[in-house]
Amino acid sequence: MPFKQLGISAELLEGINAMGYTDPTPIQLRAIPLILEGRDVIGSAQTGTGKTAAFALPILTRLQPGAKTPRALVVVPTRELAAQMETAFRDFARFTDFRIGLVYGGVGYGKQLEMLNTGVDVLVATPGRLLDLIQQRHCSLATVEYAVLDEADRMLDMGFLPDVRRILEYCPRKRHTSLFSATIPPEIESLIEWAMKNPEVIEIGMRRSPAETVEHAVYPVNESQKADLVQAMLDGLNYNSVMVFCRTKIGAEKVGHMLKKENHAVAILHSNRTQREREEALKGFRDGKFEVLVATDIAARGLDIEKVSHVINYDVPQHPEDYVHRIGRTGRANASGDALTLMVASDSKHMEAIERFISQQIPRKRLEGFDYKYTALFDEGKKGSGQIGRSSGGRVSGGYSFGARKGRRGGGKRR
Ligand code: AMP
Repeated sequence: MPFKQLGISAELLEGINAMGYTDPTPIQLRAIPLILEGRDVIGSAQTGTGKTAAFALPILTRLQPGAKTPRALVVVPTRELAAQMETAFRDFARFTDFRIGLVYGGVGYGKQLEMLNTGVDVLVATPGRLLDLIQQRHCSLATVEYAVLDEADRMLDMGFLPDVRRILEYCPRKRHTSLFSATIPPEIESLIEWAMKNPEVIEIGMRRSPAETVEHAVYPVNESQKADLVQAMLDGLNYNSVMVFCRTKIGAEKVGHMLKKENHAVAILHSNRTQREREEALKGFRDGKFEVLVATDIAARGLDIEKVSHVINYDVPQHPEDYVHRIGRTGRANASGDALTLMVASDSKHMEAIERFISQQIPRKRLEGFDYKYTALFDEGKKGSGQIGRSSGGRVSGGYSFGARKGRRGGGKRR
């Protein structure tokens, strides 16, 4: 069914046409008619499925531009997501008179106050700054008709749920509420009960399964060789842009600086970096100035980073959902991608949990030509599927070649 038949306004149709959208994605097909009808919607869908348009298009269709105080409010957990959300709304609404406003912390108040004073139809906000502005009486939510809570599970992880409740208390009771979350833990269930009316749940069956266009591989390695292996991987890969995920901020700094020394164009993204550094990292990575983005999981969720050819998990994620989120950065919109995970002996349990979660056995591979030291993981391979090769005198020879995939993407490495 084309967008036109879903009942989206003509100006918005023009907007998405200009963005190159031709057919609605599954979540859009399901959510748009419900939100147009005025239903509350809970969407559990992986990012990259088009969920932003799934709520933005029907909400904008139902609203009239020209409000003084916001008619629609979108609450998101991070500044990066907020900025991205605002851009998406502006893109959809480019042929309308809607005013889209953005508030988030870590920057001055001036611009945000000016925007609020001028008037705004749709307000995109992170919880802390929004509450701050409400409490200082710079912002009123009394006219909100549509409230959207995006990445609710992430807001829970970041401790924002009490703020979110307070924010909703400033909105009229008579409103439409939508909530998007990859998982629905009990805390979010109780938020749903409190904040939503008879919501319709849309589960796009992909929740647990990473994009089918992604090829996964696990590289067992001795802890002491992780840094060398990731360097060898980057040297052997024919990549356009790579995201490298680390478990900790310190880890991300270390790996980032190591790769910089090896002359890779690297940006580092984690929550201890300043807002400016984070914006520069993301922009530079999107624009191709940086070919490698080393990040903690803060960057894994929700961010719309396109055309990532490879995701390397320098550390195995501790939560299986994070594996899905991380590799969701590649293979987006049907483009192919690779997800390479370095695994040390102590990661076995986490890896098993991931494979259970995605109902998929990930093949163990070795990097050709890499001088491996022994790890007990190689013995497990021998007992099991036999995919891991022989060990010889504490060293094992590699069997997997990146060469087989060379030339698949034109880009190559730019040094
Ligand atoms: P989201 O899940 O909202 O972050 O969207 C992921 C990406 O898919 C964004 O780059 C969107 O611009 C793009 N997208 C969303 N809906 C469509 C569609 N119907 N057709 C093509 N691309 C889309």
